[in-house]
Amino acid sequence: MREFISIHRGRFITAMTFGLVSVLCAYSAVRAETSYVLSPRVKEAYNLLSTNPAVRKGLDFIKADHEKTLAEQKQICTIPAPPFQEQTRAGDYRKRLAPLGLRGIRMDTEGNVFGLLPGTGKGPRLLVAAHLDTVFDKGIDTSVKEKDGKLYAPGISDNSRGLAALLSILRAFQASRVKTIGDILFCGNVGEEGLGDLRGVKALFREHKDIDGFISLDSAGAENIIFLGTGSHRYEITYKGPGGHSFSAFGLPSATHALGRAIARIADLKTPQDPKTTFTVGTVRGGTSVNSIAAEASLQMDMRSNSEKELLELEAKFMDIVKGAAAEENVRWGSDKMTVQIKLVGDRPAGYQPPDAVLVQAAWASTEAVGQKPKLGEPGSTDSNLPISMGIPAITVGGGGKDGGTHSPGEWFDPTDAYLGPQRIFLTIIGLVGLEGVSTPLLPRRK
Ligand SMILES: [Zn+2]
Repeated sequence: MREFISIHRGRFITAMTFGLVSVLCAYSAVRAETSYVLSPRVKEAYNLLSTNPAVRKGLDFIKADHEKTLAEQKQICTIPAPPFQEQTRAGDYRKRLAPLGLRGIRMDTEGNVFGLLPGTGKGPRLLVAAHLDTVFDKGIDTSVKEKDGKLYAPGISDNSRGLAALLSILRAFQASRVKTIGDILFCGNVGEEGLGDLRGVKALFREHKDIDGFISLDSAGAENIIFLGTGSHRYEITYKGPGGHSFSAFGLPSATHALGRAIARIADLKTPQDPKTTFTVGTVRGGTSVNSIAAEASLQMDMRSNSEKELLELEAKFMDIVKGAAAEENVRWGSDKMTVQIKLVGDRPAGYQPPDAVLVQAAWASTEAVGQKPKLGEPGSTDSNLPISMGIPAITVGGGGKDGGTHSPGEWFDPTDAYLGPQRIFLTIIGLVGLEGVSTPLLPRRK
């Protein structure tokens, strides 16, 4: 799920703490908006839906399907799926989707597996996806251990739970014969974690221009609704010069000196508190020896913002600085030998949508309808970032149950009442795409 944890865990504890604190601060601003108000239209739709016999049947089915869902969650977990190596798990997931009533199940060139649950027509098209990848390397032990009612395994929650919850929702559609107006694409997607850089959803939205809304099922929980995307751009900057002896070659430009010029300027950058925008030079390395003019030196920079505009402005300033530092170092020594290489190593767009956006409203009403207390989640770095940044409404929600230690070998999942996760998502989906003869779609079609 939130990719900032995967990047920092075990490498920069301080950075991780800083990241969490910053995210929580941004969140408190959202939460301070006191009570959440549902629109009359959403209220009415959910009054109708939560008492509808077919919908009730689907909800009851999901509860009864709890053990099967858990069993599938464990099976999925045992198939390793590191970033860029999701193929085996994707192939397995395709087989699991096959008997569940979808049309045209296929794998696209990026490795996403999906199929369509058609509606009665003229409704919106909703994409419901769970990411296939984990943060763990192939060698890690993915066998599931059970202790005191909890399941332990790397990836047992993130995202075996989301993948299993999606399958249970599909079975509920089959069992209840709920007929929606809008179409629903169900998908196991690649590339959510770390350097996967959202390649799965990027491909989906590139190739399917007709998607009107997006729900990502990620990890555990049945209350949280993530609707804001923290964008991040990451760069690796490398200065390269001629290098030479510190004494005999004195007068040549130095890569470490150029790097120092850049960092001094970066350190003085100013960014807004709201929308929260941050930066840090996470790592530096370079130089040859104490008595050498450095031939090479590099830094890694992380920039984040809840606003794409602020992120791009910060990035533009950063670019000026790193190029300027090479130029200054050349001017200082009357040289043209210092060069700078700029490499983008991470690109997740930021996305903002109002807390009362219809997807959030539908998820809120659905959470209440299953007896849970909805919460607006802190801005995340999830698959939803991309559609939100494109102006397509999107949320990331948990697949039920509780979890801890995600992205660590000690990851655990508590399955108590975990069916509430797929139940509320089942309801959210139906409200958004509409139920034939009962409620019109809450999700508007894009032009
Ligand atoms: Zn995840």
